[in-house]
Amino acid sequence: MNDLAIMYHYVQPPKWRGIVPLDPKDFERQIEWVTRNYEVVAPDELGKPRGQKPFCVLTFDDGTKDQYDVAFQILQKKGIPAYFTVMSGPIANRRVPVFHLIHVVLSFFSDQEIWEELSAKYDLQAVPEQSKIYAYEPNLFRRYNKYALNFHLSEQQSREFLEEKALSVFHSFENFIDSYYINEREYIKMRQAGMTLGVHATDHRAFEGKAEDFFQREIQPCREFMREKLGVDAKWYTPAFGGGEQAGRMMEELEGILRSHGFVGAFTTKPGLNNGLNSFWLHRYDCICLPPRSEVPWK
Ligand SMILES: [Zn+2]
Repeated sequence: MNDLAIMYHYVQPPKWRGIVPLDPKDFERQIEWVTRNYEVVAPDELGKPRGQKPFCVLTFDDGTKDQYDVAFQILQKKGIPAYFTVMSGPIANRRVPVFHLIHVVLSFFSDQEIWEELSAKYDLQAVPEQSKIYAYEPNLFRRYNKYALNFHLSEQQSREFLEEKALSVFHSFENFIDSYYINEREYIKMRQAGMTLGVHATDHRAFEGKAEDFFQREIQPCREFMREKLGVDAKWYTPAFGGGEQAGRMMEELEGILRSHGFVGAFTTKPGLNNGLNSFWLHRYDCICLPPRSEVPWK
């Protein structure tokens, strides 16, 4: 039980305020630590006979542009394989998940400005009291904004407000999507460079309802997009939000469906080590839990 999988999201200089990215320099230093201690492999190689070092898989969620511009370039130069996932909704349907729109808007506008605009538009009197679930968030306005946009307003209300703000920065939806997400041409280059591409989601929904319906709605459209546009027969899956609140039920009910469609494994957000391909659902540590920023969590 010594194999490691690392979860990455944004890898870019900390120029944006709405998200906490891994700085490219820290990423390079982490890759050095990884290659000293592990054999970095593609997910498909997890079942092969091992040498002296345990395996490590580098995994990337959400398909944001920085992963192509920064992480992929570094890895390609070093000849290191990695596993990147596709979220097809933004590229295929020009539909951006609300939680990503929130990242963008909170990056470009101050929290106070957003809160004042939202309050002028909607009745948000109950939000300060209700927003205690974001108590870890030190900035009060950010706490209110996150609660209001994620929970208080309807998805449609949040989407309208956020899309308008995003458009004021990026001018057109085309420009926004091409600036923020890896495009088809770039995914094909990554594939040609030997990177593994897998399914993340269509619209980035947490697991809910019947497993078969969820598969048809969130997994199959992304898989078809990958087959048609990227020439990839996806065999690996990374559930959005790690499955969400119903992750336990997801692991029980979705595995058989995924296997019957040719999937061989999936990466969760549950921390822990793995043992080759002994389990369909593999654990991952978030990159910020690992050196150089932090000590190894299991030592
Ligand atoms: Zn995600």
